[in-house]
Amino acid sequence: MAVGLTFLYPRKFRCLLKKIATMAALKSFLDHQRKNKKTIGFVPTMGALHQGHLSLLERAGIENDLVVCSIFVNPTQFNDPKDLEKYPRPFLHDIAKLESLKCDVLFNPQVTEMYTQNEHWEIDLDGLDTVLEGLHRPGHFAGVTQIVYKLLHAAGPCTAYFGQKDFQQFRIVQYMVDKLNMPYTLVRCPIFREPDGLAMSSRNIYLNENERQNALTLSKSLVWLSDHLMENDVMQKARNMLTGNKGLVLDYLELIDGETLQTILPREMGSTDHEVVAVVAAKAGNTRLIDNCIVKALEHPVSIS
Ligand code: AMP
Repeated sequence: MAVGLTFLYPRKFRCLLKKIATMAALKSFLDHQRKNKKTIGFVPTMGALHQGHLSLLERAGIENDLVVCSIFVNPTQFNDPKDLEKYPRPFLHDIAKLESLKCDVLFNPQVTEMYTQNEHWEIDLDGLDTVLEGLHRPGHFAGVTQIVYKLLHAAGPCTAYFGQKDFQQFRIVQYMVDKLNMPYTLVRCPIFREPDGLAMSSRNIYLNENERQNALTLSKSLVWLSDHLMENDVMQKARNMLTGNKGLVLDYLELIDGETLQTILPREMGSTDHEVVAVVAAKAGNTRLIDNCIVKALEHPVSIS
């Protein structure tokens, strides 16, 4: 095994990956780096790393002196205990991937490090958490904000990289960081896709061949929708593509205002200055998948801090 890894990741390409398991150790190490004027790029993940995650880490490496990746499967954001239990944890593979990239630090805490017993977390997210994913996964965003708050706090001032794949999650983290005046710059990175259009996800490994084929209808419906936005009944027609695939169970396909996350009609697109995004969620077999596509971009996108 060791020989195989050495072959895959030759020594000269490897960086020394520092592994840290406690919040105090992470804070103290990164405070020291900041004192030495190093900039820090932080990529929070739940592991089972794929090219989507790696694209965030690569960007963090290009834009910072030091890259930190966290791997923590956060129990408080799972509303289904079975989903949490079976979530993939290929830890040794993840480490090999991090070592082959310019990743300097892996923060990989135990659940007991991140949560004390009977901890209470509450944040008013102004309704951003009760629509779309929040409607289908009650409590999910309370769990997400709870862990992202803790992870960011442990990392200290830095630039944090998230994926557009979880569009609603990014918007909510951005809202929290603004609301609590947290000293972080947030960067949203594009969705990394398989060559056939399927958005990469740690959950894709659950899909059998048939389900994977059916799952392609998600990205296809988004592409079709963004190409036909001015047609009559376009939302219904795009939804029909998804419901017409008997291997899928559609949760939602909506056009939303990227800031308020409220549903808007195609003909209302011109009256908002915000991004407009087509978002979709559906189950292929037992696997719930999400995807999205920005159908109207900001004219002058800015890095959000
Ligand atoms: P996760 O491990 O699923 O919690 O994801 C960790 C980070 O990677 C989140 O910010 C995700 O939005 C991002 N991510 C997941 N899949 C992709 C993808 N296909 N392309 C880009 N970023 C992604």
